[in-house]
Amino acid sequence: MFIAGQWTDAESNRVFDVFNPANGEKIGEVPDGNHRDAARAIDAAHDALPAWSRLSAYQRSSYLYGAYQLMMDQKEQLAQVMTEEQGKPLRAALNEVQYGADFLLWFAEEGKRVYGRTIPSARTDQRFIVLRQPVGVVGAITPWNYPISMITRKVAPALAAGCTIVLKPAQDTPFCARSVFEVFEKAGVPPGVANLVTALAPEPIGEALLEDNRVRKLTFTGSTPVGKMLARGAAKQMKRVSLELGGHAPFIVCRDADPVHAAKGLALVKFLNTGQACISPNRIFVHTDMIGPFISELSKRVSAMRAGSGFDPAVRIGPLVNEAALGKIDRQVRDAIEKGAQLIAGGRRLIENGLERGHFYAPTILNQVTADMAIYREETFGPVAPIILYDDEDELLAMANDTDYGLAAYVYTRDLQTAFKFFEGLHFGIVGINDINPTSAAAPFGGMKESGLGREGAIEGIEEYLETKLGGFSI
Ligand code: NAP
Repeated sequence: MFIAGQWTDAESNRVFDVFNPANGEKIGEVPDGNHRDAARAIDAAHDALPAWSRLSAYQRSSYLYGAYQLMMDQKEQLAQVMTEEQGKPLRAALNEVQYGADFLLWFAEEGKRVYGRTIPSARTDQRFIVLRQPVGVVGAITPWNYPISMITRKVAPALAAGCTIVLKPAQDTPFCARSVFEVFEKAGVPPGVANLVTALAPEPIGEALLEDNRVRKLTFTGSTPVGKMLARGAAKQMKRVSLELGGHAPFIVCRDADPVHAAKGLALVKFLNTGQACISPNRIFVHTDMIGPFISELSKRVSAMRAGSGFDPAVRIGPLVNEAALGKIDRQVRDAIEKGAQLIAGGRRLIENGLERGHFYAPTILNQVTADMAIYREETFGPVAPIILYDDEDELLAMANDTDYGLAAYVYTRDLQTAFKFFEGLHFGIVGINDINPTSAAAPFGGMKESGLGREGAIEGIEEYLETKLGGFSI
C-alpha cells in the first residue's frame, strides 16, 4: 500500500494472494488492508490537502505531465503486469496503458482551465464572483476489467482540481494499481496526495471512506448494486458521488445497413477484453431479412478467434476474471438455450491444451434470443453475442430503451435521418453511430438511468471534483 508517500504493509501484517487468471498460478502477495489502514490513508490525504490545493494549477499540472511521461516510458512493463494479472492480450493491454496515460495528459491541461466567472448584479454597489474550488479529500474505488485506465481516469482529474485521494483497487488487480502509484511516486507527487489501500475484503474500506466526514467525495466504477449501496451510504453525509456502473448496450443493425460490415464491427467490439467491458454490446438487434449474411460473417470471425494466454500474439480471447464469472455466463447461455435460443458457436467452457487451469469460455453466438431469457435483461460481462431478431424497425427504439441501464448503444445505418432518430431517441450516455469505439480521454464517458451519475474524461471530468462558490461583494 502507498500511504503518506511510503510503501507500507497492512497494520495487521496480513497479505493476500493474487493469481494469473490464464493459468491459476500465484503472481504474488499484497497487503490486506482494513479500516485502520484506510483511516491512515484518509489522515494522510487530509494532511496533504491544504498545501496541494494551494499550489497553482500549473504546478499541479507539472506532476501530471511527469506521470504521463513516465507511463509512456514504461508502457511495455505496465502492459505486461496487466496481461499477467488481468489476462487481456498484450496488444490490448498496451492500448489500455495508452488510454490510461491519455487521462494524465488531458487533465494536466484541463486543470489550467478551471474558470470562475463574474455575474452582473442588479445593484450598482454589488459584485458577484463565482469561484471553483476542489471538493476536498476523495475516496475512489475501481474495478479489475480496465485496471490502469480506471485509476488514472479518477486520480488525474482529482489531482488537477486540487483534491487529494485515497484509492482502493479491485482485489483481482492490485499489482496494476501498485504500478500506477509507483509512477506517481517517481513523478514526485507529494506525500499524502495520492494514497493506495489494497484489501481482500472491500467492505471495511468502503465503510471507512463513507463514515469519515473528511472524505467529501466518493468516485466509484463497478457494478450497479454496489454503486447503489455506496450512494446510499454517501447520502448520510451528503458526500458528492460519481458512479460509473453497469451497462446493457444495444447494438442495432438497421435495415439499410450493410450486415457484413456491421458483423465485422460487432466481432471487434463484442469480444474486446473477452466481453468484460461495461460498454460491450449485450443485445444485438438484427432484421430477419439480413440475419443470413450477418451470422455468416460473425461466425467466420468468431471461429478464427484463439483463446489462451495474452502473451501469445495470436490470442484474441483472454480468460474471464474468475470462476464465478464463468459460472454466471454459462448459466445465462444454458437458460437461453433451454428457452429456445439457437446456439451458433461456442457455448461451453474451454478445457483443451491446458486452458482448464484458467477461466476460459468459448466465444459464443446465440440467435433468436427473446425477452423471457435472463440474458435479455442481465448484463453478461463475457464473450457471448445474443442476437434478437426484429421485423418492424419502428419498434426498435422502444426495444433498445427497454432496460434499466443507459450506458452505451451502437447503431449501424447508412441513412442520416435514421442516425439522428436513434442518436436523439436512445436513453444512453454514449451512442456510437457506425462507430465501435466512441471513447477518448477528451470525450465525456458515463451513463444514464441505473448506469450511473456524472461523467469521466473531457471537460466534464474535472467538474466532478469541483465545488462552486458564490461571492457577493457589497462595495
Ligand atoms: P464490483 O463487484 O462492483 O467491484 C468494483 C469495485 O468495488 C472493486 O474494487 C470491489 O472490490 C469494490 N467493492 C465491491 N463491493 C464493495 C463494497 N461493499 N464496498 C466497497 N467496495 C466494494 O464490480 P466488478 O464486478 O468488479 O466490475 C464489473 C462491473 O463494473 C460491471 O458491472 C461493469 O459494467 C462495471 N464497469 C463500469 C464501468 C463504467 O465506466 N461505467 C467501467 C468498468 C466496469 P473487490 O475487488 O475486492 O470485490
